[in-house]
Amino acid sequence: MIERLIKGYDLDKLAVATIASHTALHILRGAKLYGFRTIAVARPNTAWFYRQFQFIDEVWEADFSNFRPVAERLSRQNAVLVPHGSYVEYVGWRQALEAPVPTLGVRRLIEIEADQFKKMGLLERAGIPTPRVYNSADEVTGPVIVKLFGAKGGRGYFFARDKRELAERLANLAEPHIIQEYVFGVPAYYHYFASPMYSRVEIFGMDIRYETNVDGRTFGLVEPSFVVVGNLPLVLRESLLPTVQRYGEAFAKAVRETLGEDMKGPYSLESIIKDDMSIVVFEFSGRIVAGTNVYMGVGSPYSVLYFDKPMDMGTRIAHELDEARKRGALERIVS
Ligand code: AMP
Repeated sequence: MIERLIKGYDLDKLAVATIASHTALHILRGAKLYGFRTIAVARPNTAWFYRQFQFIDEVWEADFSNFRPVAERLSRQNAVLVPHGSYVEYVGWRQALEAPVPTLGVRRLIEIEADQFKKMGLLERAGIPTPRVYNSADEVTGPVIVKLFGAKGGRGYFFARDKRELAERLANLAEPHIIQEYVFGVPAYYHYFASPMYSRVEIFGMDIRYETNVDGRTFGLVEPSFVVVGNLPLVLRESLLPTVQRYGEAFAKAVRETLGEDMKGPYSLESIIKDDMSIVVFEFSGRIVAGTNVYMGVGSPYSVLYFDKPMDMGTRIAHELDEARKRGALERIVS
């Protein structure tokens, strides 16, 4: 269906669209630098904010509970939709999966990400070290983090120090969840770009998150919580980069083997680095992450390794779209 839509597109009028939140400013600013028409699809209460920016040509207000008509309208406008975390949250993964509009990246990852077990399964298939997963409280040998399915924005997690505490806390929990070993170390989130045009995986940048009750001045008075309020830039010890690259490439390979299509566009691996410098990945995101906003406008320090000028992720996406448009190969970067 998507290939058919793309074939009907007027490439001279190609538009880049996204949902007005998360990384929309970053994505649309990059798209405008490459001369694309830009569309932000906003919730009625935030449309005014996006209307003040010159690089956004159109701001539409939409009802996300019924996304199909919006997707159809985007297709009629020759738009490629750039998905992000808020898009999946607003429209829900089922609508995101079926929306009749060419969507940057590998859309079927959305379904895998909706299930914590499938998500961890893909990382394991890639051979990337992940936290141990326990099937029941009985098996637990140390501190654990319990994640509810659909946990987002840092909510929907809790900890237990040992199997007794875990059993108590699980007693009242009916929702689907996963019990993971709690890994000790520092968090680090890696941003990648898989480029079908240049046949490579680029390490594009990294960040850490600024999270309320783990980074806040809580003096041990409240339970830890991970509600993300922003992101902070990070550069890593160079000796860690080959491992980060290897895991990024291994992920792309696992996607190809599992779903039978090439990884494309931005994605992220989310990790804890332990004090022996080993990296344990506890999560992935199959699309742009909000942490890329740390280098909006200025470009990521890593982008200069691939291009002769600093680029941010919005610009990197636009560059790939532009290259694909010139080569008549747009279908290779959307799904
Ligand atoms: P997420 O919303 O998936 O990014 O997770 C929220 C936070 O929980 C992350 O920033 C990590 O610091 C932490 N976290 C998640 N899984 C683990 C784990 N298995 N071990 C240690 N920390 C974790």
